[in-house]
Amino acid sequence: MNCCANESVTGDDESQEMLANEISALRCRKCLGQSRPVSVKTVLLMLKPELLEHAMSGTYSFCSKADCPVVYFEEQSGHSFTVDDLRVTVGVKATRDPIPLCYCFGFDESHIRDEVSRTGRTTVPERISRLICEGLCACEVRNPAGVCCLGEVNRAAKRLTLT
Ligand SMILES: [Zn+2]
Repeated sequence: MNCCANESVTGDDESQEMLANEISALRCRKCLGQSRPVSVKTVLLMLKPELLEHAMSGTYSFCSKADCPVVYFEEQSGHSFTVDDLRVTVGVKATRDPIPLCYCFGFDESHIRDEVSRTGRTTVPERISRLICEGLCACEVRNPAGVCCLGEVNRAAKRLTLT
């Protein structure tokens, strides 16, 4: 995965398109929302240790719906793991601080919120983008969605700058 090529700070439409391409036809069994394929490795890196043996095989998808507790579900069996089964907080499903945005470098929503309230804008997407383009990110193994963090960071920056 080349995050630097996938996303850019300004190329919002383009990155939305990239994300759209990754959305699978499978719908979350609980919320019937959109999902995207995720590797077993990503699932195993997020699960609590007592659950690892329950996810050694299968084809998993990530549910990105904010108010759905399901994080991963298996295509065939329909077996799912919820936010309580993970040892990391899933930013898009979290309602209380800290709400992680960039799992590689530890930025959460409060970093953007604080900066915006101080200066009226945020430099967080640029700072993350620079690191990503230096090849220093680890989105594939750190982000529970298994995709580059920058899409979510850009959306949050836009949302928090407008409010
Ligand atoms: Zn769902």
